[in-house]
Amino acid sequence: MLILTIFLLFSLILLGQPSWVLGSQNSPSLAGQHTNPTAEQWAVYRQQMVVEQIRARGIRSPAVLEALLTVPRHRFVDSSLAQFAYRDYPLPIGYGQTISQPYIVAYMSEAAAISPEERVLEIGTGCGYQAAVLGELAQEVYTIEIIPELAEGARRTLQALSYQNVHVKAGDGYQGWAEHAPYDAILVTAAPDHIPQPLIDQLALNGRMVIPVGKWYQELVVLTKKPEGVSKQRTIPVRFVPWRSH
Ligand code: SAH
Repeated sequence: MLILTIFLLFSLILLGQPSWVLGSQNSPSLAGQHTNPTAEQWAVYRQQMVVEQIRARGIRSPAVLEALLTVPRHRFVDSSLAQFAYRDYPLPIGYGQTISQPYIVAYMSEAAAISPEERVLEIGTGCGYQAAVLGELAQEVYTIEIIPELAEGARRTLQALSYQNVHVKAGDGYQGWAEHAPYDAILVTAAPDHIPQPLIDQLALNGRMVIPVGKWYQELVVLTKKPEGVSKQRTIPVRFVPWRSH
């Protein structure tokens, strides 16, 4: 409750500020703008996001950079927050959940090393933004969201943007989605305290799983399934919403 109150207060303070408080001096100033940005203007904000937040922090995969330049992130948040969609932080998407910071979406996508003919599973659809990025990188994307209203919202947004290769299901991601397994890559965007065994089982040979693990302290783990067994590599510390179960 306390955390929620602090978050709400912080959001209010943040949203009430003039745009220069929120961004670097040369970042686009959308606040106070009377007309809605055009498609070309949104593309400029995306370009700026990729240069300043993504490439500057070392993401090099051309396919990932291209996907972040392509997916209209502002369409995945409430219209009142659209002007903040390309900023360097997560945003609330309702039901106490958040859309991840752009850099984290890029980092996870690069760590998953996805090729165009591959099939990917995501756990934690949220608003569907990461799923759309995966849709740009892979052949088919299956994504599971535990909050039915968020699953429905993501389905609608993805449909409106014609992501026909992204399939959304409402449910608990712990059991994965056996029907379409095995997956070449699995991305998990809520943090469990251990790696669910069904997800390891549904990973293809040479498949990669990118998953935040931990309660208070979380680390992004990259798990690879090799003929000789499973290898785990701990990477950056992260802060994801907690894993939920029914
Ligand atoms: N991928 C999203 C991030 C959403 S936040 C993005 O693009 O920004 C993580 C989401 O995981 C939340 O919407 C939360 O409801 C969902 N979640 C938490 N536990 C889950 C579980 N056990 N199964 C499926 N989804 C879960």
